[in-house]
Amino acid sequence: MPIKKPRGVPDILPGETDRWQHLERVVRELAHVYGYQEIRTPIFEFTELFQRGVGEGTDIVAKEMYTFNDRRGRSLSLRPEGTAAVVRAFIENNMYTWPQPVKLYYIGPMFRYDRPQAGRYRQFHQFGAEVFGSTEPGVDAEVIELLLRFYKILGLKGLSLEISSVGCPECRKELTDSLVSYIRPQTAGLCKDCRDRVDRNPLRLLDCKEPGCKELLREAPTPLDFLCLSCSAHFAALRQELLALKISYNINPHMVRGLDYYTGTSFEVILPGIGAQSAIGAGGRYDNLVKTCGGPPTPGVGFAVGIERTLLALEEQGIEFSGDTQPGVFVVAVGEDAVRHALRILQALREAGIRADRDHANRGLKAQLKQAHRRGVKWVVIVGEEELSRGTAALRAMDTGEQVEVNESELIPRLRAWRA
Ligand code: AMP
Repeated sequence: MPIKKPRGVPDILPGETDRWQHLERVVRELAHVYGYQEIRTPIFEFTELFQRGVGEGTDIVAKEMYTFNDRRGRSLSLRPEGTAAVVRAFIENNMYTWPQPVKLYYIGPMFRYDRPQAGRYRQFHQFGAEVFGSTEPGVDAEVIELLLRFYKILGLKGLSLEISSVGCPECRKELTDSLVSYIRPQTAGLCKDCRDRVDRNPLRLLDCKEPGCKELLREAPTPLDFLCLSCSAHFAALRQELLALKISYNINPHMVRGLDYYTGTSFEVILPGIGAQSAIGAGGRYDNLVKTCGGPPTPGVGFAVGIERTLLALEEQGIEFSGDTQPGVFVVAVGEDAVRHALRILQALREAGIRADRDHANRGLKAQLKQAHRRGVKWVVIVGEEELSRGTAALRAMDTGEQVEVNESELIPRLRAWRA
């Protein structure tokens, strides 16, 4: 029996990787245009980081982490999200002494033991951006603009931006009390998860997708009803900034996000109709997280984008990228001397940066040409004994079948010119 991969962890095969590479190029170029530098953190961290940073009461930490002991019995976890690790690295590398704000981005795999379905996997990838060291609402607006620009460059249509403010811990204390008193008499009508949440994480009641819970919570108190003066002013200023940048938004008072660390601004980019999940990117402000993780008080704001969901959405909208990673040239040779000579030609083509390959199975001329056809190359360079003696090679265009004999020294300039 061949060994299969675990559920919910897709292979990304040649052919699909063209789309990934395109998307990754867009991410990097865009992030650099906006002044963000890349950071790469480890795939696993001490479990305590996520317990403290993401929050023990969150579904991600309570139910979805891949946690294991190493050989010395220390508890480690595969990262379920990117922000906590970036915050850890920010503190550990004294980035608070760098010129502020520090603007970072990352791209890489995350792991959650979630129920796999369309658009939801156990290993998935996120692109994220984080800005440390500024409470300016203009920074919140900038990360939102960056996120929307990313989708725009990819060509995605029909997106909407939802924003809200979840307030600071002070605003939230009153909210939590009021929400719990509101829902307590009606807990019997809630779904099983929400019945748990009443005591564990009542704010999450607000964004439950179950129709029964949605109905019960329609009139419930929301964070926007309890914003303190400073949170309320910050949220108003953010709306002004978005207006100035001509970014339209909906205010969604029920948005609370799944992670405990958010304070103030929170936002989601929604695309209706991508499987069970409609948020393809989301983020917000986390002004207390650096302190919670043991660093000096430093505000932060950021987002994370699900890459698989973005690719799925592009596919559903019929947006394709023509990846060009296949060899364009196949070198075909017959006869011992010609084969040896063809190897040098192949080497020269590759040195010149031309994507080229050859037969590796000792096939005859016809079979090599067939191979070239199956590989979908544009040109074949043919070297036989005669070409060898004349110092030439035959160059055949696969689409028209047209063939010319050229001097070897002309080979590279010709292929280059045709590629253009
Ligand atoms: P979160 O870290 O939960 O705020 O998620 C940010 C984004 O990551 C979401 O909007 C999704 O696009 C993506 N995402 C989260 N969980 C998964 C998953 N299990 N599989 C695929 N994408 C995911």
